[in-house]
Amino acid sequence: MSNGHETPSRIVRVAVPVPLTTALDYRLNDNDATVTSGARVIVPLGGRRIIGVIVETDVTSPLAPAELRSVERLVDPEPLLSPAIVSLIEWCARYYHHPLGEVFAVALPARLRRVDSATRADRPDAWQVAEGIDTSNQAALQNAPKQRAIFDWLATHKAPTRTADVGRSFKQASTHLRALENKQLVMRVAAGDDVEIGQATAEPPRLTADQQSALDTLGIESTGFRPTVIEGVTGSGKTELYFARMAAELAAGRQILYLVPEIGLTRQMIDRVLARFDARLAVLHSRRTEAERAAAWRAAIDGRADIVLGTRSAVFTPMPRLGLIVVDESHDESYKQQEGLRYHARDVAAKRARDAAVPIWFGSATPALTTWQHARDKRYTHVSLRQRTGGARPPSIERIDIRSRPLDGGLSAPLLSHLGEHLEAGGQVMVFVNRRGFAPALGCHACGWTMPCDHCDAPMTLYKHGRTLRCHHCGASAAPPASCPACGNSKLVAFGAGTQRVADTLAKHFPAYPLARFDRDAVAAAGELDAQLAAVARGETRILVGTQMLAKGHDFANLTGVAVIGVDGGLFSSDYRAREQLAQMLTQVAGRAGRGATPGAVWLQTRHPDHPFFDTLLTSGYPAFAEAELAERHAAGLPPFGWLALVRADSRGYAECDALLQRATEQIAVTTGVECWGPAPAPMQRRAGRVRSQLLLRADNRRALHRTLTELRQWLIANANPNRVRWSLDVDPVNLL
Ligand code: ADP
Ligand code: ZN
Ligand code: ZN
Repeated sequence: MSNGHETPSRIVRVAVPVPLTTALDYRLNDNDATVTSGARVIVPLGGRRIIGVIVETDVTSPLAPAELRSVERLVDPEPLLSPAIVSLIEWCARYYHHPLGEVFAVALPARLRRVDSATRADRPDAWQVAEGIDTSNQAALQNAPKQRAIFDWLATHKAPTRTADVGRSFKQASTHLRALENKQLVMRVAAGDDVEIGQATAEPPRLTADQQSALDTLGIESTGFRPTVIEGVTGSGKTELYFARMAAELAAGRQILYLVPEIGLTRQMIDRVLARFDARLAVLHSRRTEAERAAAWRAAIDGRADIVLGTRSAVFTPMPRLGLIVVDESHDESYKQQEGLRYHARDVAAKRARDAAVPIWFGSATPALTTWQHARDKRYTHVSLRQRTGGARPPSIERIDIRSRPLDGGLSAPLLSHLGEHLEAGGQVMVFVNRRGFAPALGCHACGWTMPCDHCDAPMTLYKHGRTLRCHHCGASAAPPASCPACGNSKLVAFGAGTQRVADTLAKHFPAYPLARFDRDAVAAAGELDAQLAAVARGETRILVGTQMLAKGHDFANLTGVAVIGVDGGLFSSDYRAREQLAQMLTQVAGRAGRGATPGAVWLQTRHPDHPFFDTLLTSGYPAFAEAELAERHAAGLPPFGWLALVRADSRGYAECDALLQRATEQIAVTTGVECWGPAPAPMQRRAGRVRSQLLLRADNRRALHRTLTELRQWLIANANPNRVRWSLDVDPVNLL
């Protein structure tokens, strides 16, 4: 206590989740508190109270102490975030030119960011009878029958019971539980599901010669930053290679961060990890509840989780004993967030591995060209597993020329007969269509009109076998018109085929074989997907029709034939990454065929069977494609040989957003070596009622690009009216649409 002689308050700098470029300074009134960066605080902001994270202590503020507001409360006595994670987050804010507080908001589970639950998340969310309590004689509950009922019910449970589960059986459960807690009859404990406990049930397989030599190259225990590309088709044994190294990490008491691109893939990977290791696994993805995510996160920080398995944002999970990062299916675009903080988890993971001085393994059958180039430059070690385990042979690929053939619901006669043969022979078949719905458009053959969305520059997708239309860009729906509004023709037709139409057609041709459709309309929940995939694995489902959802990582032993339709668009797209995406997709899809003893067949329907793209990819494989494509990128100065950033703006009217970007390019000093392309209308100019303009920046030199971005952002913050024009920056954009 000071007597009359005030010590000046300490000042801390706090990142708050608002679109500000810098953190804010606050006074810390409790001078005794030991504060460190990485700890959360509750601070006032405007009229609100919010959670912020301290990023710097004992700062000298440019503002006078009297002008500063005070920290209301320190939430974490120990910092929640390690210095390593704080600096990773700061790096993201700089690299992606994004408000620091909003990067923290992406990194932290939601529950840890809310004033009302910030501390509650730290408290375990399950209940059991307190230790040493005689459950038969509870005088304290004589006049509280409801509490008694809950108490007795908990006493019959061996495992801790979550609050939510008590709530399903009893009204006002949390009030009664709190009363019981105050009487010290029950206690809060960890629900037991913040980590899943693995139990090794099988001996690991003996590594093949290929796997062993890859492992020898990489070293089973080498430490330090060592980025490695593990290239191998699905089924070549990449996962077993990760597992061999992970076993060594676990034995050494280190933690492993294992990233997967999509929730759809996590269940099978979780089961596989749990069956292999006697380890504690924390799972982090968006389909888990807020409480589960906060608990899993906490387990990782505490070091109770040995392995953290998660999607994109799991890359920010603090792990005190991190020893290895695995990025599975590392080419996958789901690693790039497409809104808000547009970060690429693969790149953030690489930065994290470098800072932590740990190895990072990028696995893929089709490494991204950026990754591939790092390997060519010898910045990344590159190992390949070119053979499938068990001796399965690569599939044969046949191009079906459909230039002069009629299609039935998108399918040609030769394709239908191939599919029939495989079904009769007892195999499963898959038809891959990259469009959801019945058909991509409804239109008029007489005059070429197609039904547009009222709010977007795009045709509407036909659904329900032709009875409704829906827009994939804004969600609007409409009924089909009775006749063509342009020429009056009364016969409107479905153009092209989506998954629904293909499924209908296959059901008509092959009524005896059970069929399942996999797309976002048919399979909405992760649980449904797991169930549907299980039916495929049991061999019950014989025909699979689906989108991207089917292209990834699933292993079906009896799948002998795979058809791919509707790929021609990717050959002529204006997006520089379209061919890379198409090559990855085709290679992944083809990898689904013939996993067992029988070689698979892949059929590709195209109007351009002689296109050089197919020749390179189908006859020489992905590595040859990658070399050819990289040569073109090099000539054009495109990534990975140049750096791109996209500035997007949208508003009610086009003139406004276009003028804003135009003025920006005129008024900022564009660094020498940075090319500005545009502003120009976005490829889909109108979307969800907003009109969009964009500016593409390109530079050979990354620093030059970032200097310009810094200026541009400052200019936009100062000059754009957020009520009229919205804008965003996308650093290293993966699509330019
Ligand atoms: P990828 O990750 O490249 O798709 P996996 O590691 O999942 O490949 O291997 C594919 C299949 O082959 C799995 O069923 C796996 O258990 C099996 N497998 C992998 N390596 C071996 C090995 N050395 N011996 C026996 N089976 C193996
Ligand atoms: Zn018409
Ligand atoms: Zn629309």
